[in-house]
Amino acid sequence: MSSKKNADITADIQNGMNSQKKRYYRKNVEFFKLLEKVKLWPSRSGTLHGIKSIKIHSNTAEVTTFCGEMFIIWNSRNSRASRWLRNKWSFCACGKCKIPAWKIEKYTTTMMTQKWGSGL
Ligand SMILES: [Zn+2]
Repeated sequence: MSSKKNADITADIQNGMNSQKKRYYRKNVEFFKLLEKVKLWPSRSGTLHGIKSIKIHSNTAEVTTFCGEMFIIWNSRNSRASRWLRNKWSFCACGKCKIPAWKIEKYTTTMMTQKWGSGL
């Protein structure tokens, strides 16, 4: 398993969606809190990165990924990444970040629950 290519994790996501384990979060859970929980970050290109550390300030957060990227994000439920985390279901995991399957499953169960919850 030394492939440097990004892994297709669509199957893992589907497994996560089918998982019996459910974690409930309020619909209005803060975006940063969500990131802190799932520790995943979707890049512009559609690659999912693992978050190594996240430093939350008031309206911004400093995110460092496992593959060494560092950037500032804004706390907005309507941001591209926020929408992505809630709605996107088919993408690739970063080959350098080595995101474990359980983390992806946690992400999908969390997101699915939130999606269902938002319709109530
Ligand atoms: Zn990465």
